[in-house]
Amino acid sequence: MIRIFFTLILSLVAFFGSTQDRFADVEVKVIPVSANIFMLTGAGGNIGILVGKDGVLMIDDQYLPLAKKITDTIASITDTDIRFVVNTHYHGDHTGSNSFFASEHGSTIFAHENVRIRLANAEDAEPSILPVVTYNEGVKFHLNEETVHVFHLPNAHTDGDSVIWFEKANVLHAGDLFFNKMFPYVDLGGGGNVQGYMDAIAFILGKVDDNTKIIPGHGELANKGDYERVLEMISDTYKYVQSKKSEGMSEQQIIEAGLDKKWDDWSWRFITTERWIKTLFQ
Ligand SMILES: [Zn+2]
Repeated sequence: MIRIFFTLILSLVAFFGSTQDRFADVEVKVIPVSANIFMLTGAGGNIGILVGKDGVLMIDDQYLPLAKKITDTIASITDTDIRFVVNTHYHGDHTGSNSFFASEHGSTIFAHENVRIRLANAEDAEPSILPVVTYNEGVKFHLNEETVHVFHLPNAHTDGDSVIWFEKANVLHAGDLFFNKMFPYVDLGGGGNVQGYMDAIAFILGKVDDNTKIIPGHGELANKGDYERVLEMISDTYKYVQSKKSEGMSEQQIIEAGLDKKWDDWSWRFITTERWIKTLFQ
């Protein structure tokens, strides 16, 4: 009994030790996007910030253990406070610091209706992480001489995705509707859908031009050409898997056969080629 107890303590120490370590060495870096828009990288979804005399509007906020580093990084860019936070969707690597920004900065958190519902229904739901303002179609912000359009796209990465368009600067934050040069995660259990994901990208591509700078949810700062490549990859691999499926091949047989070699580099730690095929097969 005592031995089991100590084993438990040791594994808890190891667990919390490793989650601590996971973020201890993470550096929050700043990538300038326009005169007053910056992309911040750290761990989790890319953050976008609009800065100026009216205060900071922040898109997504990564994980709680990084909140202080994110704050310090923003303070190195501007001396105004973080007034508004928009969550592009409910995943923890985009909403993890909500409670910190709400309590420490008095930030108002915005998100699509379904983001609040999904966060509220999570097992470890804390009221302090919930968005305070929710919307269905979208919302507009008018600050720092910029017009910021936040608009929802149905069932794509999840069922609560928002994309943020900074009109004057011609900058788009695509959230997880854009994984740059890597297989995307489509959260089928969270209302995501591969066809919806392609429709969303096609819709966004119709709105941007060759000068638009696009902050993807994951991966490096991008442009329209990079985004077109994502749509090409998804539609190419989707058609391939669907045709093999209709020929009677099983999921396992398609996994063994693999995808076209040209997509090998798109496989990564979280969404490997095998996992991407499984998503496409469903
Ligand atoms: Zn996500």
